[in-house]
Amino acid sequence: MARIDGARLLADLRELSRFGAFMTGVDRVALSATDIEARRWLVGKLTAAGLDASMDRVGNVVGRAPSVGKAILIGSHTDTVPKGGWLDGALGVGYALEVARSAMEASEPTGIGIDVVSFEDEEGTWLPFLGSRSYFADLDQSEIAAARSKDGATLAEALASIAGEPPPHRFDPARQVAYLEAHIEQGPRMEAAGRRIGVVPALVGIRRFRVRSHGAANHAGTAPMAMRRDAGAVMIALGASLQTDFRLHSGPDTVWNVGNMIFRPGAANVVPGEAEMLFEFRDIDGSAMDRLEEHFTALVEAARRGTVGAASGEPLSEPVKIDVETIVRIPPTRLAADLGDAIAKAAAARGEEPAWLPSGAGHDAMVAARFMPAAMMFVPSIGGISHDVRENTSDADIVFGCEVLADAVEQLRRHMPQ
Ligand SMILES: [Zn+2]
Repeated sequence: MARIDGARLLADLRELSRFGAFMTGVDRVALSATDIEARRWLVGKLTAAGLDASMDRVGNVVGRAPSVGKAILIGSHTDTVPKGGWLDGALGVGYALEVARSAMEASEPTGIGIDVVSFEDEEGTWLPFLGSRSYFADLDQSEIAAARSKDGATLAEALASIAGEPPPHRFDPARQVAYLEAHIEQGPRMEAAGRRIGVVPALVGIRRFRVRSHGAANHAGTAPMAMRRDAGAVMIALGASLQTDFRLHSGPDTVWNVGNMIFRPGAANVVPGEAEMLFEFRDIDGSAMDRLEEHFTALVEAARRGTVGAASGEPLSEPVKIDVETIVRIPPTRLAADLGDAIAKAAAARGEEPAWLPSGAGHDAMVAARFMPAAMMFVPSIGGISHDVRENTSDADIVFGCEVLADAVEQLRRHMPQ
């Protein structure tokens, strides 16, 4: 079994959490001064561990193992959401640092080294997956030029402070043979099941829609019910029908959400002339998603006819105009089964049966998996909380997760073709 220094890992994670410390969490959004400071700190740690490390001009930090022809790339991200937690992203980078450093200290003879990465802006402050998409050359300059934060600041301006850094690090397919990312679960399932290690077979796909209905605003006291073109009533019926229909037709991993509904003009005495709804669903099975989208489309069609939610098929209202805009369409990502198995075996060898659970959130591994074999491992989140200052994992679980990852990496380095 691989040996790591658990106390050193915890000390590093606590040190990292001081950059942008906010209450019990961290506020270290991508390309902020504290984010860049934290990244320079990481370069220092990686260099001290004997890796060839630098930050590039998009903020990606890469540490490369010296004098090896091939390497396993391990990492995550060190940017956070505003007022976020101390482990989202940081945990995976802390693990990568510790696993690489311990392996360098053990200096076992193997031709496969360990490279470490902290991708920039995983959280999408400027551009979701800016760092990993840059690393895999999956980003064009026009996207960078157009990207803005929600406050309207431009990404180009934010990048100006690190414009003097080296050109972007790039994925080296001849060298980097696999990508491993450890992350907190960010959900309650592992804790509920009493599992300490999660292996992620796939990351969910997302389909998100903005539905708008256009009726006619009118006096809610004087317009007879049968003569209204009520954009709001139609949207309520559509939302309710989606909830019922998805409950009937969803798979075990489907989640869906009516995230927002707006009525205009929005007054008690006015029949809504316009309404808008945000609806999304997620699953790891692409064909199941296609079937669900057919249900969604059929219900929208019924809403157009005014029959959605009507038991008899008779229209409930005068027809309203409805349009649907697809705002997100991300396919599910399958991760490499053999790499997942290696993590599961490493957990079992330490006496822990892993949980297999899809990731409902996006991660840099989703980008990496399009270009190289990739795997993800989860450790439990206390209370399932994340993207909040209360986000936490017990010290024992943090250290145990790193031990399992180190074991899996050791096995892969021994048995992968060199
Ligand atoms: Zn994350």
